[in-house]
Amino acid sequence: MTQDKGLLLVLSGPSGVGKGTVCAALRPQMRDLVYSVSATTRAPRQGEIDGVNYFFKSRDEFESMIEHDQMLEWAEYVGNFYGTPRQFVEETLEQGKDVILEIEVQGALQVKEKFPEGIFIFLAPPDLKELHSRITGRGTETEDSIRNRMLVARAEIELMDYYNYVVVNDEVEKACERIQAIVVAEHLKKERQIAKYRNWIEEVF
Ligand code: 5GP
Repeated sequence: MTQDKGLLLVLSGPSGVGKGTVCAALRPQMRDLVYSVSATTRAPRQGEIDGVNYFFKSRDEFESMIEHDQMLEWAEYVGNFYGTPRQFVEETLEQGKDVILEIEVQGALQVKEKFPEGIFIFLAPPDLKELHSRITGRGTETEDSIRNRMLVARAEIELMDYYNYVVVNDEVEKACERIQAIVVAEHLKKERQIAKYRNWIEEVF
């Protein structure tokens, strides 16, 4: 019998909504999920490890990966490139394992073009005001950059319509529970179950 492909989960949403935090909190809870490591041209932050947090690349290296069709998606975000190495994702799905991408919205839309069967989860802030305080709360951004991030966020919220699910990140633990519920329900979908039952009927009768 052929191996069922894994689910491709795309966790995306506006800047500052807490995608990274939610993804990190999911890891110990969903040990069967495979986390795709992105490539980026941005400099490593303190404590970040090449190959674990990101594959840190020069601009030339990143562009060469694009040219050689090695990116499932990529986007320029606040002056740096970010992208998902394609081969790892495809091979892992073929092995029947579920893969999660934590990416910004431009990238998510590209994945939707290539993998319409993916499960697109929009992580939403409880409200825009709180998003503003979360971004400013980091204390690392200039006024201009804050304003730009807010404009980007507003446009991103319009994009919710392209997603299958909206998960509000009011509390990280609750957001994780909602994502786990989505994954369980997706595995129970008729489309993923019925072929096995049909095979069984043919074998038995
Ligand atoms: P940071 O620099 O804070 O790690 O990430 C900045 C943004 O890039 C976040 O919104 C994160 O979700 C997004 N990001 C990380 N990896 C990828 C990727 O492979 N592709 C895309 N399109 N966005 C990514």
